[in-house]
Amino acid sequence: MIEEKGLSRGLRSVESSYQPLVQIDGEAKVMAASNNYLGLSSDESLIGVAIEGMRSFGVGSTGSRLTTGNTTLHELLEKRIARFKKCEDALLFSSGYLANIGVLSSIAGEGDVILSDELNHASIIDGCRLSKAATRVYNHVDMADLKEHLVRSQNKRRRFIVTDGVFSMDGNIAPLRDIVLLAEEFNAYVIVDDAHATGVIGENGRGTASYYGVSVDVTIGTFSKAIGTEGGFVVGSKDVITFLRNRARSFIFQTALSPGIVAASIRALELIQHDSALRDQLHLSIKQCREGLRDLGYSVLGEGTPIIPVVIGDATKAVQFSSALEKEGVFAPAIRPPSVPEGSSRIRLTLMATHQKKQIDGILRAFLKVGKAFEVI
Ligand SMILES: *Cc1c(COP(=O)(O)O)cnc(C)c1O
Repeated sequence: MIEEKGLSRGLRSVESSYQPLVQIDGEAKVMAASNNYLGLSSDESLIGVAIEGMRSFGVGSTGSRLTTGNTTLHELLEKRIARFKKCEDALLFSSGYLANIGVLSSIAGEGDVILSDELNHASIIDGCRLSKAATRVYNHVDMADLKEHLVRSQNKRRRFIVTDGVFSMDGNIAPLRDIVLLAEEFNAYVIVDDAHATGVIGENGRGTASYYGVSVDVTIGTFSKAIGTEGGFVVGSKDVITFLRNRARSFIFQTALSPGIVAASIRALELIQHDSALRDQLHLSIKQCREGLRDLGYSVLGEGTPIIPVVIGDATKAVQFSSALEKEGVFAPAIRPPSVPEGSSRIRLTLMATHQKKQIDGILRAFLKVGKAFEVI
């Protein structure tokens, strides 16, 4: 069944470092699908401090933060990410996935309701499933529908609105100003997953709340995308973070992040805050690529983010389209159900600040040739 529907999944291995040009199956290809938006994953200074961190503390962290795994580096990174996000306190998790699960399953409980955008990331969906709260899914970025759910849930103990800041498969920015206004009107809490927004949008790359100039109750994020390293985080008030430190099972029962990774994250945050050159370059490339694809006749989703989805439709056709792109030297795998709704399989093109203009020209040339051959344009 999975094969027939074009939904079988295989692994591809990268045989080089994560530069804009990577080696796959022995050939150099332009990487056009990585979440390494600022190119920091292969930054020499990050690699240097990661090695120093490991020399000082070891490779593995040897235990949960609450037992033996907590180092001064972990505490420093929490201080830095809280300051970056202008929040009172922060808590590290081993991944963004675990952060979402930990927050939603512990904060929202019996008698509460979670109102969740229909295109929220799978880790939010799993967090909702683990929570004892009821979950209601509202239509994607549909504020009238969200309002109706808020009206209908007034008998509930507490209401939590949860949304991706930047939607991971559609590349659009959530209407957070409107969400915050509705939350104020109905006395609800707002939780934002800023996985794809951190380092990319808002003042100094602070994320979606900063982009709109609003504040929210809890922000979840990951170091694994624009920040170029690994690990998840949650920022919010001191009370919320203290609660999570004591209750979030995916925090309590998880080995702490490797000290080397934590050291690299500290350095990456410094780079992101003090130098806007990478972010400025990324946004120039985003403009060039989005405009180029539209000029070719493609309809692309989203706006203002490095995620540029080109919807193909059928899953098998999307896979063939992706293989044809790869023959032209562009690596961008097809994204299929269940990552995206049935019938909306797509090439999820993403850009990095380190892509050169000629590489983006090459991506556009490949899309011209393959799009014509597949009669998509
Ligand atoms: C990638 C992603 C996550 C998970 O983060 P990891 O650190 O990779 O576990 C969570 N939410 C969204 C929206 C994401 O895109």
